[in-house]
Amino acid sequence: MPMRKQQEPAPARLYDVEDPQQTAEEGLENYGRYINSSMARLYRFLGLTTLEWRAYGSVVVDVHGKEYIDCAGYSVFFHGHSHPKVVEAVKDQVDKLALSCRVLPHKPGADLGRLLAEITPGDLQYSFFCNSGTEAVEGALKLARAYTGKPGVIATTGAFHGKTMGSLSASGRELYREPFCPLVPGFVHVPFGDAEAIEKAITEETGTVILEPIQGENGVIVPPDDYLPRVREICDHYGLVLILDEVQTGLGRTGKMFACEHYGVEPDIMCLAKALGGGVMPIGAFISKPEIFSPFDSNPHLHSSTFGGNPLACRAAIAAIEVIQEEDLVEQACQKGETIMAALRELAEEFPEVIAEVRGKGLLVGVELTKEGAGGMLITELVDRGVLALHSLNNTMVIRLLPPAVITPEEIETVLTAFREGVKAVAAVIDEL
Ligand code: PLP
Repeated sequence: MPMRKQQEPAPARLYDVEDPQQTAEEGLENYGRYINSSMARLYRFLGLTTLEWRAYGSVVVDVHGKEYIDCAGYSVFFHGHSHPKVVEAVKDQVDKLALSCRVLPHKPGADLGRLLAEITPGDLQYSFFCNSGTEAVEGALKLARAYTGKPGVIATTGAFHGKTMGSLSASGRELYREPFCPLVPGFVHVPFGDAEAIEKAITEETGTVILEPIQGENGVIVPPDDYLPRVREICDHYGLVLILDEVQTGLGRTGKMFACEHYGVEPDIMCLAKALGGGVMPIGAFISKPEIFSPFDSNPHLHSSTFGGNPLACRAAIAAIEVIQEEDLVEQACQKGETIMAALRELAEEFPEVIAEVRGKGLLVGVELTKEGAGGMLITELVDRGVLALHSLNNTMVIRLLPPAVITPEEIETVLTAFREGVKAVAAVIDEL
């Protein structure tokens, strides 16, 4: 298995701040005053009175020079931070053509389109590029609506598809939806993992089904093996467009290039973002079968984005896909995920009062806790021990570990040791939480 040596930070750059304490304090002050005061208070409450400063491989370094192994990163850093090949591609491109005039086509965009058509399953062929996951979902929903002419969309409870109006309408947590109602009409939600519930929800108005192959923000919910194949059959039978949102699961995270490949299912439209930019540039995309793309193909201005698919982001994405292939990152995700999950399952057996379940695929790992308060405490214990983990936006009982595929065996050991100590600390006070 090819292993990339983690790039060490150059010491001169690491300590390029004269007074780390003052810089951190000013940063938090300004964050509270000009970005979000509640968030700044929360950072202080959690003891995070520092700033992230630089990062390489699996490691984030704060302004004081303290290192953390990044198992958070919202699935963006599958390649690790600042992968040299991705950085090199972006540097090369910035010297040539950073953004597009959008009157002429450019080579990085055309090359990325071809590459995505090659690596995505089945007949997926036409790519539309944007800048984030939510935009990829918005565009996919618009395309499906234009193709079917029907406003009805079936989505799932607990789903997370983003927070702009269309994607929020597909998302399934009331806390984030309620202040913005009425949302886009025509969306219904059915339980995730229950294909028959989709069939029952179909009406004359239904044109689209949208799903994550594995729900990420809902706390890593892996559906039964026959779920996606059955949903595909239902969509084919009733002539519905199937959108798979692989924004979090796509590009190797689950131990396959795309999570739908675990189930042998091809979507009609696939949404990507996060790891697509190789952890260096923001980029999103939706990729469609030619027939379904026909409304956008015949009128290219029906949907557009000024910055979407800019040359810098496209070069990063091309390099990101090449790195996944050259370094066999999908296989690495598979093996390292098994190691991590096996160790965490042993820990769950030892501390059943803290850990209810460990689940996931590849390096998308969810740890369900027995009590809501345990999650916050465990994340803080991990931070103290130099490990960054992630809560789940739609499920407060689950914390997630999404380490880079380039994480080294030694780093995995460090994470597991920190996890064991953190769980022990939580176990000691679990009755009071
Ligand atoms: N879809 C899924 C499955 C996601 O997990 C996310 C973000 O977590 C999104 C869409 C939205 O992506 P973004 O935050 O880039 O808009």
